[in-house]
Amino acid sequence: MAQKILVVEDDEQIRKFICFCLQNNDYDYVTAANGKDALRKITSDNIDLVLLDLGLPDIDGVDIINDLRKFSDIPILVVSARDKDKEKAYVLELGADDYITKPFSTTELIARIKVAFRHFYKYNQIQVQTTYQIKDLVLDIDKHLVYLKEKELHVTPLEYQLLLLFMKNAGKVLTTSMIIENIYGIGYGKDTQALRALMAGLRRKIEANPGKPEYIITEIGVGYRMIANDE
Ligand code: CA
Repeated sequence: MAQKILVVEDDEQIRKFICFCLQNNDYDYVTAANGKDALRKITSDNIDLVLLDLGLPDIDGVDIINDLRKFSDIPILVVSARDKDKEKAYVLELGADDYITKPFSTTELIARIKVAFRHFYKYNQIQVQTTYQIKDLVLDIDKHLVYLKEKELHVTPLEYQLLLLFMKNAGKVLTTSMIIENIYGIGYGKDTQALRALMAGLRRKIEANPGKPEYIITEIGVGYRMIANDE
């Protein structure tokens, strides 16, 4: 799906020019000609990036950055005629990601947008969850380790894969064929015997009483479900 960019610009000619550039580069866009409309669209339109003119008729672009940063960290590229270093530093400090001075070329605009997206995705990948916890059971993806009540559990590679699948999908019922496909790969067939043996092994390690499982519940005739933290 194309990334959606909000173009905030009161000058119709510049707005049209920007939209034309975006369209030619396969970006989706919505426009706002004033600050109020911009704030409304930011909150309702699932915007991925904002191109923001600072000189708007109603609200100062600086205030829009302030407001937006209270609830969102999507990239903001300031587009402004004001070529003052002091102001550049100020808006960047407020949380804008970059500053483009008018006039600018299509090439420059698109390049800056790409860089902003790249930074954003890179930064957010670092924030990706690396541990899963369900009650006393913890799986640490970075260390590739499983802990039960803070004690390290020794699990086989397949048991680890199985547990990870369940922890990622806590609260959801996973059908037997979904699990087999995930663990053993597509084309493994409908042989549930191997999965049952694997499940029994895992349960012996994580359940206090494998006959009465508290972490991974059997959903008879369907598959299995790991309990969620709020159950
Ligand atoms: Ca303006």
